[in-house]
Amino acid sequence: MGYQNGVLLGQRTREVLERVRLYVPHAWDDWAFFRRAAAELYQPKLPDGIGSEIEGTLAGMRDAGVDEVDFLDLVALNGYFDTSYSYYYYLKAQQAAARGQSMPPMDEHGGCSAFAATGGMTKDGAFVLGHNTWFPYLIARWNVLLDAAPDGGRRFMMQCYPGTVYSGTDFYLNDAGLAVTETTITGLFTFRPEGVPYFVRARRAIEHATTPDEWQAYMLEDSNGGYADDWIVADVKTSELMMLELGTHHHRTWRTTDGYFTGCNVARDPEVRQETSFDYEDTANCCNSRLSRWEGLLQDARGVDAEFAKAALADHLDVHAGGLRPSRSTLCGHVESDGTGLPEWEWGPYYPGGSLDGIVTTAELARQGKVWAHWGKPCGEDYRWREHLAAHPEYAWQAPLAEDLIAHPWTLFNAGW
Ligand SMILES: [Zn+2]
Repeated sequence: MGYQNGVLLGQRTREVLERVRLYVPHAWDDWAFFRRAAAELYQPKLPDGIGSEIEGTLAGMRDAGVDEVDFLDLVALNGYFDTSYSYYYYLKAQQAAARGQSMPPMDEHGGCSAFAATGGMTKDGAFVLGHNTWFPYLIARWNVLLDAAPDGGRRFMMQCYPGTVYSGTDFYLNDAGLAVTETTITGLFTFRPEGVPYFVRARRAIEHATTPDEWQAYMLEDSNGGYADDWIVADVKTSELMMLELGTHHHRTWRTTDGYFTGCNVARDPEVRQETSFDYEDTANCCNSRLSRWEGLLQDARGVDAEFAKAALADHLDVHAGGLRPSRSTLCGHVESDGTGLPEWEWGPYYPGGSLDGIVTTAELARQGKVWAHWGKPCGEDYRWREHLAAHPEYAWQAPLAEDLIAHPWTLFNAGW
């Protein structure tokens, strides 16, 4: 297990690690910090199966001619979100407390737009689910769909970074009929370093769960609070939707068989909100703007299908500024064209980041192991790094490893189970 990941994606894993090493000191701390977190927090919590899968990936990478990556690099890459979005801020909060201060302003990076609808809203009465990922374009590289068949587990397909054992973006299907996605909760700084990392829980959940309840139990068990998310889980067998808002110390679950859930990086539950530092009243905030855009799109929607979902992920209506204007506040995020940047995540003006993909599935497609996937910005616009960095030289540090992000057509992928 893992060997094919190493052989087929080894060179791309090496390239991802090069870019991540360049990127992380500009956002949080250097790669050595990520490796220390991997050694101290995650390695002791790796189940045997995941540890041996990472060993298998390394063996495959060596056979593909990549021998400068070690076990700790791969554990650190798997733990990327636990470390950057959670552990880093937990340490900052502790340092602030030691000085007698409260949590400093958050500079968490991340973002995504997601929704699912079911029942009377959809064309066939069964669920429709869609997601786009927001990320710095420098370290985009999420254009992998991995089809896995572990011994003793469910077959599953996920979108992921090369060289990893879990999704990260997150998008999963399994052959028990679960479809799973999420958006990150902005500004959440709580964490339990002694708990099981997010990437281990998320992997075990999709590998073993057959119902949303079972999936939730895997996510809750001894959680470290890493990468706190609003998870949306859809079940082919019932077309029921579940949303799990999962903080470190609090969580809340909602369910519907006739309605919708949305994700745009904003916590809904009052107790989970207490674990965050975030201004829920600020309508200029990009997460709040997108929340009201989702409501506008969905509250009276009828006949929702895969085409509706693709269009929603490419939506450019900015409810804060008004009009069709791709920006930080639109469901298809364009921070690179936004003079405000994304202060919620400490992305400066015209930061080269935003939405970079789209994934859509329906109950009918998920039953067969199929997804519509789109690489590049969901609206079809390209990002050209040379022009952008020339106009915004404050990001010239990215030039050595920058790449264009070209939008490809929506494509139907089929795991065929
Ligand atoms: Zn767009």
